[in-house]
Amino acid sequence: MKKIQFLLLFVLTTIYGFGQQQNHQKPKLVVGIVIDQMRYDYLTRFADKYGKEGFQRILKEGFSLENAHYNCVPTYTAVGHTSIYTGTTPDHHGIIGNNWYDKFLKKSIYCVDDNRYTTIGNMGNGGQKSPYRMQSTTITDQLKLAQNMHGKTIGIAIKDRSSILPVGHTADAAYWFDGNTEGKWISSSYYMDLLPSWVAKFNANGKAKNYLKEPWTALYDINTYTESIADDNIYEAPFQGKEKPTFPYDIANLKSKNGNYDILKAIPAGNSFTKDFAKAAIKGEKLGKSNYTDFLAISFSSTDYVGHQFGVASKEIEDTYLRLDKDLADLFKFLDEEVGKDQYTLFLTADHAAVQVPAYLQSLKIPANYINSNELKAYVNQITLRYFKSDQLIENISNFQIFLNKKEIEALNLDHQVVAQKIADEIINYETIYKAVTAKTMQTTTFTDGILHKMQKGYNQKFSGDVILAPNFATISSNSRKGTTHGSGYSYDTHVPIIFYGKGIKSGFSRKQYNIVDIAPTLANLLQIEFPNGTNGVIIEEVFR
Ligand code: ZN
Ligand code: ZN
Repeated sequence: MKKIQFLLLFVLTTIYGFGQQQNHQKPKLVVGIVIDQMRYDYLTRFADKYGKEGFQRILKEGFSLENAHYNCVPTYTAVGHTSIYTGTTPDHHGIIGNNWYDKFLKKSIYCVDDNRYTTIGNMGNGGQKSPYRMQSTTITDQLKLAQNMHGKTIGIAIKDRSSILPVGHTADAAYWFDGNTEGKWISSSYYMDLLPSWVAKFNANGKAKNYLKEPWTALYDINTYTESIADDNIYEAPFQGKEKPTFPYDIANLKSKNGNYDILKAIPAGNSFTKDFAKAAIKGEKLGKSNYTDFLAISFSSTDYVGHQFGVASKEIEDTYLRLDKDLADLFKFLDEEVGKDQYTLFLTADHAAVQVPAYLQSLKIPANYINSNELKAYVNQITLRYFKSDQLIENISNFQIFLNKKEIEALNLDHQVVAQKIADEIINYETIYKAVTAKTMQTTTFTDGILHKMQKGYNQKFSGDVILAPNFATISSNSRKGTTHGSGYSYDTHVPIIFYGKGIKSGFSRKQYNIVDIAPTLANLLQIEFPNGTNGVIIEEVFR
């Protein structure tokens, strides 16, 4: 009898103890993958052509959120990456655009420019960067703090902002691609004094040069690309030096007219090159091999360049995603081998999505349009001239925000809130403007859903403008009718994939609505660490094993 009791106790404690241990076993490595400009429907539109080991693998074995959105505007690259990793929106994290008008400096600035630092890795000034404008901490900062600065966090992307912002203030390194005549991965003296030897070795291996020798052809027979419109159409922007936007692209011949190594950013090979560098980083930094959790933040930027140039419905986008699928498969296989199949946790999302080319939508009788920023500015100046007898009251208009010239307004003895309200009341008569609210409204009203809620989440009292605008649906600020962009708070720009995969994550999917800011607190809970300090997302409980 006693023996049986003992045996039972032994079995129970073993099972219970094992369960406990499982819950608290952290991944050796967290891999964050951001696909620049990836719409949710790219997962479904090309599903039949994806292989088993790329997107389909993490969809099948991981957990996919089918109704995940950005809950803020503008939906730009810097805002997107920062919102993912801080778990909050521009009202708190302060990255209100890629570029914006700095009210204090009275000039337009770029989100990660910082001339207190120097370039590491070549001679140019492409490395004078830091994350100092980001006001809050990231999940990567919190992991560093929780491990008393042990464990490595590394950021990698062709775009500097997509590499720097994800890994926060405390990163070991962020690397980005300096194209032009050299084609090298570089960094900033914010992180280091010298490139590690594995980076220097990678830069010397001739890979960038070799990629530019290969033409960009369709991966499969182009006649099978039935998920896209005709290859030759008037909604795509051709490369310089090639008349038509059609396959194949002779990159070796096109490169001199398209920024030399910069052309690598704009073709799928840019994603393969990023993946190659990420693999070198995993090996070179021995990620996932210590007693601490490491974090690798990778962003694939080339998808965005292709999307801007050719648009959502193009064969070029289809080919870019079919090729990215192969790169992801290769990366996942490498992670299995280097870190171990159930030793890492991965998530994949996007920094924003994109709208169909507005001219293409117009051709289908769907409301869509273009805004010319000079005409808009002239219209606003006309408003102030008519009501306040001055066309000098506007300091800057950018990112659909109007910054008032407070000095001039004071000199004319005007009340800036009266001026702002009048502009908001009148600019609504401009054909392509759908909403206009003042900063005062943003500060005194709580919007709980819809486009005004997203505008409020993107409004930062300290840094944003005095009148905040939203364009009509499918209306972009552009002088060209070829190619497309993103930036709005409408579904085509906000709906992105979020897939969790690997250690601690179960297999499944959910149609519940989640926000992009929910990723960081979910990771914090998985890692059992404190939230980033501005987080206002929720823990997505249903993804956990
Ligand atoms: Zn982007
Ligand atoms: Zn973009």
